[in-house]
Amino acid sequence: MHDDMQTDIARRLAELREEIGAAARESGRGAGDVTLVAVSKWHPAAAVRAAALAGQRDFGENYVQEALAKQDELADLGLRWHFTGALQTNKAKFLPGRFVLVQTLDSLKLARTLHDRIAAACAPVQDVLIEVNLARESQKAGVAEAELPGLAEAVAGLETMRLAGLMALPPFDLAPEARRPLFARLRELRDGLELRLGRRLPVLSMGMTDDFRQAILEGATMVRIGTRIFGARPQK
Ligand SMILES: *Cc1c(COP(=O)(O)O)cnc(C)c1O
Repeated sequence: MHDDMQTDIARRLAELREEIGAAARESGRGAGDVTLVAVSKWHPAAAVRAAALAGQRDFGENYVQEALAKQDELADLGLRWHFTGALQTNKAKFLPGRFVLVQTLDSLKLARTLHDRIAAACAPVQDVLIEVNLARESQKAGVAEAELPGLAEAVAGLETMRLAGLMALPPFDLAPEARRPLFARLRELRDGLELRLGRRLPVLSMGMTDDFRQAILEGATMVRIGTRIFGARPQK
């Protein structure tokens, strides 16, 4: 590993943690109330190792094969892996037992497939988030608001998984400040579901490199950040 990569990533992480802590305090919480997930898709395992050496524990990956390869290569580090990519039913069989949190559940079909795969693998209960399509972008992943309560009830009824909260990815063409109402909306949806299901849904995963501050001010408990930590993503 290059020393300059190690130094750069450690410095960026330290600065980022400062800013996350400041935003958390501004929102009336503490730095420990916001989990930083370092999204390492397309970056080499060496970059993940550098971040781990700088104290980072939680990492997000979007592509199953790439994620499994890095997990195997970095098994000595005992990292916590999150699945943050588009979920496909034909890839669900690779997920059980591999990720602390699957963040992108967005249909009943996927939930049932994942349930079957977890049961077949006798894997531990899987923590999941439901991804919500807040801006009603037809081409984007995420369940529509109107279908969220039904999906949440169905997922909450599957004994192989534990619904931990909600995730969203606002439209890129909105300026970070303009995304605040969408972040606030995700928090409202979470609060509504807590009442409906009669239990806590502690995780609100929202905020990336450009908008983590706004997301934290609106209640994010988890931010998913790639570019700010690792630099621009290399071409695949
Ligand atoms: C790539 C990605 C991120 C990180 O984006 P950056 O802008 O590089 O911080 C966060 N969440 C998801 C779902 C992603 O796909």
